[in-house]
Amino acid sequence: MTIVIRSDFKFTDLLKNSLRSRYENRKRSEEEVHVSDILPSTCIRKQYYGRKFPDFDPLSEESVHHFIRGESSEFVITDLANMGVAQADLEFDGLIAHPDILDKDVIVELKDTQSTRSLDITDQRFKSYLRQLLYYLTITGIEKGIISIRYSSREMRWIKSDEKGDYFFRPFNGKGPHIESWSVLLPKDDIARELFKNEMMRRKNLFVKALKEADVSVLPRLNMKIRTSKCPYCVFYHKCMNEDEETEQATKMANEVDLLDIPGLVDFKPF
Ligand code: SF4
Repeated sequence: MTIVIRSDFKFTDLLKNSLRSRYENRKRSEEEVHVSDILPSTCIRKQYYGRKFPDFDPLSEESVHHFIRGESSEFVITDLANMGVAQADLEFDGLIAHPDILDKDVIVELKDTQSTRSLDITDQRFKSYLRQLLYYLTITGIEKGIISIRYSSREMRWIKSDEKGDYFFRPFNGKGPHIESWSVLLPKDDIARELFKNEMMRRKNLFVKALKEADVSVLPRLNMKIRTSKCPYCVFYHKCMNEDEETEQATKMANEVDLLDIPGLVDFKPF
């Protein structure tokens, strides 16, 4: 008797195809505007292009894997946390929101990242997580939120970059995969609620206008601070930067001071 082992492409393909169709089903229609469409860090123009030119952005293996990693982590943690309603459907003046966990007096956002270092308020990704949670707190009127970040990679430190890529080392005492959670309090009478509400509505209305009129020029490109790290990898780069315009108003908007950078608006205490 011999044990026979062969690679099985058929099964991997079956999985990939099912995941692909599931991912495709989640793609959004032009009629829906979600909180994640209008977050400044997500790039509102990219969301527009994704709706108008879906074939420009074919589904890569990497996007399927990111999707699955996020979904499975969210599913398990939601179950473990055993609280509130998962992925509740909320609607606020035409804006759709799906907080990961909505309880009577707390909202939890679960994030999964391959970042090799802990994120904090100085990091654009952390700010993006925070803003999404603040939008949900504003929409619901709830005061307390939690951001729970699962780090799935070991800590690494950057050494240098050259034309071949980035070089890192893995410190012996570096952190392994772990979870860090942050509590966020947005008091009911805080002026910040009004600021975030105005920001959300302004961005949502612009997005709807651009889609209706098929005019991307009214939508701001990414803020200069994050453009260099994100735009070169964007599949719409040529169209966005070289073919399509950006109105003067949109350019100004792209470079406005981030609300989270207003002195005194956020009191952040690191671990
Ligand atoms: S190139 Fe940059 S600004 Fe333009 S759509 Fe892509 S991410 Fe947005």
